[in-house]
Amino acid sequence: MQHDFEIIDFHTHPFLSKAYNTCNHKEVLRDMSAENTLSLMQKLGVNKICGAVVSVDSMGGPLYENHWQRISDWNSQALELKKIYGDFYIPGFHIHPDFVEESCLEIDRMHGQGVRFLGELDPYLCGYQSYSSENMKIIIDYATKKNMVVSIHTMLDDDMDAFVEQHPDTTIVAAHPNEYKGFMRHLQRLKKYPNYYLDLSGYGVFRHGMLRRAIDEAGVHKILYGSDFPTCNPGMYVGSVLLDPLITDEEKRIVFAENAKRLLKLK
Ligand SMILES: [Zn+2]
Repeated sequence: MQHDFEIIDFHTHPFLSKAYNTCNHKEVLRDMSAENTLSLMQKLGVNKICGAVVSVDSMGGPLYENHWQRISDWNSQALELKKIYGDFYIPGFHIHPDFVEESCLEIDRMHGQGVRFLGELDPYLCGYQSYSSENMKIIIDYATKKNMVVSIHTMLDDDMDAFVEQHPDTTIVAAHPNEYKGFMRHLQRLKKYPNYYLDLSGYGVFRHGMLRRAIDEAGVHKILYGSDFPTCNPGMYVGSVLLDPLITDEEKRIVFAENAKRLLKLK
């Protein structure tokens, strides 16, 4: 795809093997692999991807004794992918509020590897409910001291309000604009909290005018490009910004890459 924009996909779940591939249609897309992800993104003009590894066990992933084993395996997979991808990939990782000590040690381990991206946190996949619990506060405070940017899946709005309120010094990027009601709550948080951002992955981006409204009401510096590949089709998300006639080229440049570069302190 021909365009002049640098693109950083802030929200992906890359994979080394089938067990960690969340694409619902991987059975027919037989050539899906770490190498294929790179070439697919290059075809779309995407220069860099960010995000954590996940598996969905009911989709044939390995089985684990507890949530911590599963999470630490995902995190190790992300470090393996980093070895393959180099500068193309900014690894994210998971923590778990039922494992506070382990989570803080994991923050140290990832920090030691140069990782500054915590998330996407996916409570619904990991067996916890809330971002605003006491245990979570200990972990996120610790991650903040280590300069981690925190990416969160959109969960219950009141819980997300409480979480953002608890962490005024944490850079928090929520994922998924969602449908009208949820999107309007995102907008309220974007306007109220200077440390709260939104990535475009998942539901919502296909609604006409959504991106224009987000930029008009929250400011162009609050919105980050993201796709949720391989669950979602990255071409649709590139197109949703690139082909939106309501958005200026300067706004596209900022949403596609500049905001991610600023938050992640990239060159
Ligand atoms: Zn998500």
